[in-house]
Amino acid sequence: MSPFVVAVVGQAFEEAWEAYCNGSIPIGAVIVSSEGNIISHGRNMIGENIKDLRKLSKSKIAHAEMNAIYSSEQGVRNAAIYSTMEPCIMCFGAIVMNGITEINYAARDGVAGGVNLKNDYIKKRNIKINEYHPEYEIVQLIIKTDFIYRNFRDRRDRAEELLSVWEETCPLGIRLGKQWYKENRLINSGAASRLSPYKRWHAAGREKNRHRTKILDRCEP
Ligand SMILES: [Zn+2]
Repeated sequence: MSPFVVAVVGQAFEEAWEAYCNGSIPIGAVIVSSEGNIISHGRNMIGENIKDLRKLSKSKIAHAEMNAIYSSEQGVRNAAIYSTMEPCIMCFGAIVMNGITEINYAARDGVAGGVNLKNDYIKKRNIKINEYHPEYEIVQLIIKTDFIYRNFRDRRDRAEELLSVWEETCPLGIRLGKQWYKENRLINSGAASRLSPYKRWHAAGREKNRHRTKILDRCEP
């Protein structure tokens, strides 16, 4: 990945972390124009009530990709979107209908992911879909697992059901997510330092020649 794309993905993860810290689902998105400029960003805000006319919040439509699209002042035709999670069926629809022509995402979503939807209308759009990124997928699922456990305390069966779906595609992300949750790592370190898991992972990742598990296990706050 080019340094620019790494920076874009980093910004999307910062959005996801901001969502987590504010009680919304930890997913972030950034949109890049066909000229290669960042034109908007957004995060999930379904758990918040934001008084901002360019933001969707306190609603089940307040997803990260929806907010990135909605808050763009110049439109998103022929742009590329970067999301920390595979866009859901609703966001995928919005992406198609708004003329975005490239989708990049970190983690697959076997629960609500929609990028495989196909009909003639979608096919004609020739949207380029760059599939999940294995290492970023782990980071996303660590945050997501922690969030699910904290927000489904009285619906433990549903939490396990969701996690088992993501575990099928990324067992390491879920295993580490459960471990981080048990050790309260996101809460203890993140709230105090505001240093997102992405930044911690990225710093640790600079140490080369280490197995990925070791890198993530070493992400001490
Ligand atoms: Zn969505």
